[in-house]
Amino acid sequence: MAKSRDKQPPVCGFCGESAKERKDLFFIPSMYEGLSICSDCLCKGHEIVSEVRAQNGGKKETSSPLNGLHVPTPEEIKEELDRFVIGQEQAKKVLSVAVHNHYSRLKAKFSGKDDTLPPELSAVELDKSNVLLLGPTGSGKTLLAQTLAKMLDVPFAITDATTLTEAGYVGEDVENILLRLYQASGNDIERTQIGIIYIDELDKISRKGENASITRDVSGEGVQQALLKILEGTVANVPPQGGRKHPNQEFLHIDTSNILFICGGAFVGLDKVVKRRRGRRVLGFGDNAPEKNAAAEVAEEENIGRLFSECEPEDLVHFGLIPELIGRLPVFAALEPLDKKALIRVLQEPKNALVKQYRRLLAMEDVDLQFSPDALEELAGKAVQRGTGARGLRALMEKLMLDIMFAAPSRKGKSRCIITAEVVRGDAEPKLERI
Ligand code: ADP
Repeated sequence: MAKSRDKQPPVCGFCGESAKERKDLFFIPSMYEGLSICSDCLCKGHEIVSEVRAQNGGKKETSSPLNGLHVPTPEEIKEELDRFVIGQEQAKKVLSVAVHNHYSRLKAKFSGKDDTLPPELSAVELDKSNVLLLGPTGSGKTLLAQTLAKMLDVPFAITDATTLTEAGYVGEDVENILLRLYQASGNDIERTQIGIIYIDELDKISRKGENASITRDVSGEGVQQALLKILEGTVANVPPQGGRKHPNQEFLHIDTSNILFICGGAFVGLDKVVKRRRGRRVLGFGDNAPEKNAAAEVAEEENIGRLFSECEPEDLVHFGLIPELIGRLPVFAALEPLDKKALIRVLQEPKNALVKQYRRLLAMEDVDLQFSPDALEELAGKAVQRGTGARGLRALMEKLMLDIMFAAPSRKGKSRCIITAEVVRGDAEPKLERI
């Protein structure tokens, strides 16, 4: 049968017209087992589907980028974060709830009325909850945002607030963040519009001092203003090739109202701002209290993470963020600095832990790599000294493993390498022993 059809001109399986009879029409051959469809029938089909959709409330159910998106429960999100991120329990909880709410809100928005809700509630519009992560460098802020995006399978882009300037200045336009997200989505506008953007180093664009500057502030407030627009939701005109806008250029129009923004920063000194405010409150001092009053020293021993978790919007204003921007980041989560114990866990527990990665790399060269417990402790201790959190671990490991990685591939047969505390301290050479 297939043979005889090959010789005949294709026939539309719906209206029966052949390509010969309808030369102006476009036939899509062999969609299903040799069934063709002409463009007329295709258009009619499209019209019918659109009509049915319009009758169902005009929702573009099937073309929504959220169709395939499963919105996990906060517990599921936290469980997934636990596989990659050590500690930071409170931040994980806050993020899990914020992300769940964000995507549930989007689902509700795209799929229309929810008949299960009481009428007075189904009309309530839900605000977007962008998130601000406060925590020292190398504590897992970027990792949290990255893990979330991977888990939800939505496009993700990272940017550094310090590279941004307001339009017209040397540096990157704020819109270029959106371009990066668009590229991460495989140039799919719909998917771009439900993506996640992580903006790092938000603290670095704070105003210098609380007094507004007389001249325009290129690095601080101007950028905050520019960011504010895309954070609160706007249709941004983005040059498709990046760079500056030109008057005669075609733009991508990206609606940012459903993009989840997660901002992060180390906010060095914010703990002191929080402490000072609390000190003032405890003693009932006014805002003009001397900077170094006794109450400001009250909670000296409290750790930074704890103070960060007590941060309030007014503290961030004192720090130099404009109130409007803070208003657009209603969810705060504080991350703890990682102590030695946590860093030992970071080295070996996460799914892609460094120890696992190096063990795998060397296993491919027939080397059984092992770390003694005191070696891990030594490594974590060195990272604590560097003060760059888990970030320091990678560089330490690279340096430590260089000689082994250099020698292993040219060795024949199976070997073992045990990294001990002496090796980490540099008191002994790492050895490859034949087994
Ligand atoms: P930052 O807080 O400065 O954004 P990152 O998330 O970029 O820190 O962390 C840098 C690297 O350190 C990550 O890629 C990850 O490997 C590791 N890391 C940092 N914090 C954690 C953590 N809490 N758990 C596991 N790994 C971590």
